Amino acid sequence: MPVEIKNRAPLILDKIASLTTIRDIDIFEFSFMKTLANMLNVNEISMYKFNNASEPSRMIKYSSDTEITAGTKITDEVRELYLENIDIPDALNSAIEWIKSTGKVYSTQTGDKFLTIYPISGPNNTTIGYLSVSLLHERSESENLIIKSLLNISENFHSLLEENQKDKLTGLLNRKTFDESISKIRDLISFSPSAKAYSGSENRTDKGSYQYWLSLIDIDHFKKINDSFGHIYGDEVLLMLSQIMNKAFRPNDLLFRFGGEEFIVIAKTSNKDEATNIFQRFRETMEHFIFPQVGQVTVSMGATEIKGQYMISSDIVGRADKALYHAKSNGRNKLYFYEDLVSKGLIEDEIEHEGDIELF
Ligand code: GH3
Ligand code: MG
Ligand code: MG
Repeated sequence: MPVEIKNRAPLILDKIASLTTIRDIDIFEFSFMKTLANMLNVNEISMYKFNNASEPSRMIKYSSDTEITAGTKITDEVRELYLENIDIPDALNSAIEWIKSTGKVYSTQTGDKFLTIYPISGPNNTTIGYLSVSLLHERSESENLIIKSLLNISENFHSLLEENQKDKLTGLLNRKTFDESISKIRDLISFSPSAKAYSGSENRTDKGSYQYWLSLIDIDHFKKINDSFGHIYGDEVLLMLSQIMNKAFRPNDLLFRFGGEEFIVIAKTSNKDEATNIFQRFRETMEHFIFPQVGQVTVSMGATEIKGQYMISSDIVGRADKALYHAKSNGRNKLYFYEDLVSKGLIEDEIEHEGDIELF
């Protein structure tokens, strides 16, 4: 049964007001979908996002079923977040074709379900994803308008939140976002109850036998570049380095500007060799790149595995920093892993060492 929109305008405004108080992107996306679902009596709602390489990089699904058992209303909510192995259903493939060629929203009916798929616009009017809404009744024109407007508001707010996560000079993720990302990754690894940050019954497929590796990247003799060519050239090197990072690493790797001329990459891999290859490839690309005026600029890198739910972000960065320090004192333009240095006895493992401290 179509919803009577007019009477619900204050409610809709109220929902928008509370939605826009949220500052965490993941929580915002779920809340947006839940708001839409509740407002329209939606059976199932899914959002697909694509990365720069046009690969599906994010799928969020929200569905709810309400049953009345012995006079009590029971709502069963399902929230799912997929960051990889995302299946694109046939209907979405048809919708993508249709939307590309006609510029119109895609609608279809299967059995008693009415499916509508909307494009999601990003900056510069590019399509960055699709919203798929499944209703148990035929969508009315006013519902269509509500979905479109809410999607617009949501995307504008979403891009503001994203802007806020980025460093102004390089466009990489900023330091503040690093701390938030680390705690999310730790939750993913540890499967701790706090991983269910969104509450409700949520399934994440993004866990299992993966490893997360972090590498700290520090430009060698950067002060000399500033001193010889000036700060503007220094900034240009930082900007170009961030572009090289974007090309050298994979679309799902997380890239941060951690400080002035320090960067961090977090890569999810199946094993350490894969992490070594990814990090070395970047170091070598830098070694061979000729910067206008400045010439060759090399980087030193210190890497470590992110593991263990109790490890705080300063511990993780601290380990990477020790490996980086080793690279700096052993000729620069090198990559070292903290774990290797510990096993070779070149640095002490402070975690084990702390365990040895006698308190009495
Ligand atoms: P090392 O090989 O030991 O890392 O030597 P370095 O000269 O790179 O190291 P140091 O930490 O002494 O110098 C870092 C310099 O980076 C100092 C600072 O002026 C410069 N710097 C930091 N942030 C920026 C920035 O945003 N723009 C520019 N142009 N320079 C910056
Ligand atoms: Mg430095
Ligand atoms: Mg430096």
